[in-house]
Amino acid sequence: MHELSMCNAIINRVRTAAEKNNCTRILSVTLEIGALHQIIPEIMDTAWQTVSNHTCADGSTLIIKTIPLTLHCHDCNAEYCIHTGIPRCPTDGTHQSEIIHGKEMNIISFEGE
Ligand SMILES: [Zn+2]
Repeated sequence: MHELSMCNAIINRVRTAAEKNNCTRILSVTLEIGALHQIIPEIMDTAWQTVSNHTCADGSTLIIKTIPLTLHCHDCNAEYCIHTGIPRCPTDGTHQSEIIHGKEMNIISFEGE
């Protein structure tokens, strides 16, 4: 359960941040997750409910912003996004590309009271 371990890491960080800010109840958490993590939103929601149960984030909403997988071609310097399949430069068809976006896993913000 990829999503569950991810949610566990997120809630630990959010709870620490909430304590520092004297926040006793978390209403929503906004995340930025790269497409490479292949998160399934429904599973992520269920995992979030599981880890937040009986914590200050109980009943909170998880807002996920997906960052598309973006690559940079070493041969022609093109930047391109792919959604499925094998990374291949649309300009010259090479596979000599480096991932520049899509690995993100950040907590952007959380709302609490
Ligand atoms: Zn290229």
